[in-house]
Amino acid sequence: MGLELLTELLELPGCFVKEITRRDKDIILTVESEGYPRCPECGQIYLDAPKDRRYQEVEDLSAFGKRCYLKVLKYRITCSCGYNGTEYLEWLDRYQRFTVRYRKWIYAFCKRMTGIDVSRIFGISKHTVYRLDKEGIEEELSKQEEIRPSRISIDEISRKKGHRYATIISSPVEKKVLEVVKGRKAEDITPFFKGKDKKWRDSIKVVSMDAWLAYRKVISKYCTQAVICFDHFHLAQHFSKAIDKLRVHEAKKAGKENKEFYKGSRWLLLKRPENLKDGQDAALQGLFKINEKLYKAYILRDEFRRIFSGATPHSRLIRLTNWIKRAKEVRIPELTEFVKQIEKWDPYIRNSLRGNHSNSFAEGINTKIRVIQRMAYGYKNFEYLRLKILQQFNFKEIKSIFDG
Ligand SMILES: [Zn+2]
Repeated sequence: MGLELLTELLELPGCFVKEITRRDKDIILTVESEGYPRCPECGQIYLDAPKDRRYQEVEDLSAFGKRCYLKVLKYRITCSCGYNGTEYLEWLDRYQRFTVRYRKWIYAFCKRMTGIDVSRIFGISKHTVYRLDKEGIEEELSKQEEIRPSRISIDEISRKKGHRYATIISSPVEKKVLEVVKGRKAEDITPFFKGKDKKWRDSIKVVSMDAWLAYRKVISKYCTQAVICFDHFHLAQHFSKAIDKLRVHEAKKAGKENKEFYKGSRWLLLKRPENLKDGQDAALQGLFKINEKLYKAYILRDEFRRIFSGATPHSRLIRLTNWIKRAKEVRIPELTEFVKQIEKWDPYIRNSLRGNHSNSFAEGINTKIRVIQRMAYGYKNFEYLRLKILQQFNFKEIKSIFDG
């Protein structure tokens, strides 16, 4: 193959292929730049090539199923302007061991596969994959236009079972994650809002969130135009916890002959009735026969859900009032505790019922994040998790690397 053709195919501006060789199975292209070396700082051209020159070896996309390396000759320049270093090539990032197009290729794979899989397929280290992925995300972030939502949602996720929290600030209408913050205290999330201009903060009209005081505090301070809503999805989580407490308590009290009914009941109780399979429904009915409290709690939970599906704000508000009354009448301590919370949160729940915005976006966040945690497995660092979450929610689209 003619070296001119290779030079043309490589499309590396200002460079030509001097030699093509093989090293074991790999293809090695020796590349030099045309013309005279130039100082990257001041642009001064050196007619006498500096003596100090070295090869930088970078990996390019494979050719014919073989790994392909470019050996790039670079001059070291000591310029009168004070610059002291190597020349600069636009198609090659200064400290990379890969060409720009190689990085883009790896990055495209990282959007859909685990880092470990990408590392295996390309035969590069796991650490390198994470680095290229991270750099790709940072680049997308730097190009992203600022989202100016009128509604946001603040949700907590647990990074490890039970503790070590993170907060996700998202915009459910645009279906974007705005930020992922370590922790869930007021001082953890304040910097995000402080970093936004007043116009941004004032344009927030509705904030859906969990009943967590720190979140409320920050929002009342920084988003003064916003109505705070506790939506169904967050409340349902609290309700599920209450039911679970009751289940554990009841299972402990149960006689030997009834223990079996409680087995596996945890998930059955938390599932929506319409999602139960036949056998599961039968198991649940068996449990309800021996335990009326759990049956009542289950019915109340279904009714609680119905509050939010009322057609008008008026009907939803009436349903809430009636529900509180009924829930108090059953006199189950675990539920009474939940009802007390509901009464305490009343204004925020009513805000939510008046607007009744669906928050299916935030509702799916937790499930999706568990998948992302698996993708980022093996690299347990918060910053990478944060970037990975932003990528998977905001930059999911993949483009062909052949289109520039
Ligand atoms: Zn210079």
